[in-house]
Amino acid sequence: MLEICMLASGSSGNAIYVATEQTKLLIDAGLSGKKLAAALTEIDVDPFSLDALLLSHDHNDHTCGAGIMARRYRMPLYATGPTWQAAACKMGPVPEEMCRTLPSFGEMQFADLTVESFPIPHDAAGPVGFVFRQAEKSIALVTDLGMITPDIFQMLQNVNCLVLEANHDEEMLKNGTYPWPLKKRILSSRGHLSNHHAADFLTDIISPVTTHVVLAHLSEHNNLPQLAFNTVGEKLTTAGCEPGRAISLEVARRFGPSCHICLT
Ligand SMILES: [Zn+2]
Ligand SMILES: [Zn+2]
Repeated sequence: MLEICMLASGSSGNAIYVATEQTKLLIDAGLSGKKLAAALTEIDVDPFSLDALLLSHDHNDHTCGAGIMARRYRMPLYATGPTWQAAACKMGPVPEEMCRTLPSFGEMQFADLTVESFPIPHDAAGPVGFVFRQAEKSIALVTDLGMITPDIFQMLQNVNCLVLEANHDEEMLKNGTYPWPLKKRILSSRGHLSNHHAADFLTDIISPVTTHVVLAHLSEHNNLPQLAFNTVGEKLTTAGCEPGRAISLEVARRFGPSCHICLT
């Protein structure tokens, strides 16, 4: 059994629960310790039972509760070397015995769960995406990236469940109120994936083994859940992989547990 649940998703905070029979991980902790504990309790997970916390990158919406979670619940905290350097001052003191290094490109084993991490293009220090594998099942988690590189394409092939960023609608962003430098940053190859980028990539990567797609990290100001769902859904239908038949397509909620998926 390989399980994932989005606890929060978007620029106001990200946290994802990933578990197997023997392992429970938290990926990112971009909410207060109190909110993270409440979200975990909502899905009947005791924060003390978590085996580790892994960080994708140093941005506040992924790390602001990381220090408190590691201290309060005594869980090892994994981050790449550059992420540690960039995030250390924001997270407060983390006991030395809790500090672990996450490979930028490599593989780790947590009991029955294999975690692959790989670099993604984003304007952060050493950001990574993840593929989680248990027995024959696999889940990819990739948000906060400006483009899909050939390496990412390779890593995400033949994965059962894809959690992918659909950050913004390009027209909403271009016509919105953000200052131009911020718009430029979001649209750049080290920014965030748009609904159309996500849809194009998904139509290329989806294979007969794909059963679930989750759209994540939606912008509060430059996207709408229904718009992201329709943009991706329509492209998938045109490409012959109709959501709702062979593939379940969901949009992660901004706050609170959503997209709770169990692969068995
Ligand atoms: Zn983010
Ligand atoms: Zn980010």
